[in-house]
Amino acid sequence: MRQFKVLGMPVHIHENYRDWLAQRLRDNQGAHVVTLNAEMTMQARKNPALAKVIQEAELVVPDGSGIVLYLRSQGKKIERCPGIELSEQIVQIAAEQKWRIFLIGGAPNVVDHVADIWQQKWVDIAIAGLHHGYFDEAIEKQICEDIRSTQPQLVLVGLGVPRQELWIQKNRYLNPNAVWIGVGGSFDIWSG
Ligand code: UDP
Repeated sequence: MRQFKVLGMPVHIHENYRDWLAQRLRDNQGAHVVTLNAEMTMQARKNPALAKVIQEAELVVPDGSGIVLYLRSQGKKIERCPGIELSEQIVQIAAEQKWRIFLIGGAPNVVDHVADIWQQKWVDIAIAGLHHGYFDEAIEKQICEDIRSTQPQLVLVGLGVPRQELWIQKNRYLNPNAVWIGVGGSFDIWSG
């Protein structure tokens, strides 16, 4: 995929990120999706581990308007892709295809609420598992075991930047064929 660079970070360019990801899932190919904004790019300059994860992600979408404005100022044709909207579109496709979805992050009860809302919206949605984002090592082990045993095709991780990106990098081997998306505070918004 074509890519531009913002302060050393890649931004991938595609006319339809949703279709690209859906095809990726159909082909049983995994992806780590990073939804890049200016703050993250600044963090990555000081955090080599974060920079590496972003550089290695299969899909980095221009989430922040600062990224889009910067690239436009360089003469690039680029449209913003809000990560929360892309994630929701993928959830819808996953629900329709009955692909298993795993949700991690947010304060206690938030993801449960999101799962309830989605189950009402898409009755056939397959929520393979969920956990809030405040866990100790023992619980983390259990979460990882649940991911390993349920093999979800879509994993949404909302632990904030950079924790979610590093967490995905560390754990995506549990199901390399899944699409893993760092969703930031999206669970808070989806829960209403
Ligand atoms: N969060 C979490 N565990 C933590 C720290 C944060 O689950 O140890 C969640 C928090 O509840 C919130 C999200 O991570 O839902 C971070 O949201 P924010 O909008 O600050 O994230 P950003 O997208 O700006 O990184």
